[in-house]
Amino acid sequence: MKILVVEDEEALATGLQFNFEQEGYEVIRAGDGLLALSLFKEARPPVDLVVLDLMLPGMSGYETCRAIREIDTQVPVLVLSARTLSEDKTQAFDCGTDQYMTKPFALPELLARVRNLLERRAAAAALAAPAPAAEPGEYRFGEVVIDFLQHQIRVGSQLTVPTALEMDLLRYFVEHEGAVLSRSRILEDVWDEQADLSTRSVDNFVMRLRRIIEKNPSEPQHILSVRGRGYRFVARPGSPSATPPLPDGEED
Ligand code: CA
Repeated sequence: MKILVVEDEEALATGLQFNFEQEGYEVIRAGDGLLALSLFKEARPPVDLVVLDLMLPGMSGYETCRAIREIDTQVPVLVLSARTLSEDKTQAFDCGTDQYMTKPFALPELLARVRNLLERRAAAAALAAPAPAAEPGEYRFGEVVIDFLQHQIRVGSQLTVPTALEMDLLRYFVEHEGAVLSRSRILEDVWDEQADLSTRSVDNFVMRLRRIIEKNPSEPQHILSVRGRGYRFVARPGSPSATPPLPDGEED
C-alpha cells in the first residue's frame, strides 16, 4: 500500500513517513501541491491514499485535492490541518476530502484512520473485480441507474462519476429507503466523523446528489427534505409502498 504525504513541514513529513513505514506502508513525499500532482500521476503502482496538508506553499491543499479528484475519484484523501474552523472542513469535504484531522493529532488515531481508509479501499477494489456470473451491483429507480461496482450513475443517457463520498451517501440513502434520516445521523454514519463537522456539509452533498439524480433538483422527487427532521429517500414516489412525498420546505 502506497501513501502520498503532502506536507511542507519537513519534520512532520519525516515523522509521518517513519510511522507509516513502521506500519508496512510505502511512502512518497511532496512539499507542495504541484510536485504532489506529478508524483500522484506517475506512481506505479498507483497511490492508495493521500495525506494532505491544507496550508502549502503555492497551490493550496484545497486546490491540490480538487486536482487529485479530477484524476482519481476513488483514492482516499485524509486532510491533516491546523485549521479547525468548520468552514475549512466543509470546504475540504467539498473539494473531495474523505477525512479531516486537525493538528496536533494523536498518532494512534491517525494510524487507525489510515488503516480504515485503506481497508475500505481494498474491499471496494475486491468488490469491483470482475466476479463471474455475479449480477452487477446495480440499483435502478425511474430513469436512474446506480452502478455501485463501476462507480457510476446513469440518468437516461447522462453518465456521472460521483466522488467516493457522494457514492457513499447515495448508497446510504438507498439502504435506508423510506426512513427519515437526521443530518447528525447521516454525518455519523457516512462520514465516520465526530459530530464537530457542520451538518451543512450534509446539505451540500444532498444538493449535489439532487443535481445528479433529480429531474428538477429544486423539486426533488427522490431525496426529500423532511422539515425539521432531515432527509428521506424514496425510490418510487407514488408507488403504493411510498407514503406521499412531503413538500420540500425550508431547511431546519
Ligand atoms: Ca503547512
